[in-house]
Amino acid sequence: MTSPRSRHVTFDYYRAATVELSFAKWTSQQNNRLRTHAFHAQHGRCYYCGAPMWLDDPLAFAREFRCTTGQLPALRATAEHLIAVCDGGKTTATNIVAAHQLCNRRRHMAKTPLGPKPYRARVARRMDGGRWFDKNLTAMVRLARSVPS
Ligand SMILES: [Zn+2]
Repeated sequence: MTSPRSRHVTFDYYRAATVELSFAKWTSQQNNRLRTHAFHAQHGRCYYCGAPMWLDDPLAFAREFRCTTGQLPALRATAEHLIAVCDGGKTTATNIVAAHQLCNRRRHMAKTPLGPKPYRARVARRMDGGRWFDKNLTAMVRLARSVPS
């Protein structure tokens, strides 16, 4: 027999967790859909650095651009929120672009992340000076740039 007091604090944790999980699943599916859409709209090029990304076939990518499997994780296409979620950015087509995992992560690693436009300009300057990727990746990117997209 439960006392009125314990009935009062009854909370359906299982149901709450289920709702939470299905929302997380929906969000990640939405993320993936928008990432795929942006990837194709950008012709497979990173929003920030302009170099090629891979979406679902890393080995074909490695063969085409002669990069090593160790370089693949950094070059994966991720969904990048132009306005970050923590700043109120939404998971919508107008707020999502496709960017390398590396370029995406570096932007958000900064103490005060730059906005998308200044960050993109900064990446471009560093790309021009060969100071964005390490030597191997820079060579890969130069090769990829000579291949028409
Ligand atoms: Zn990039």
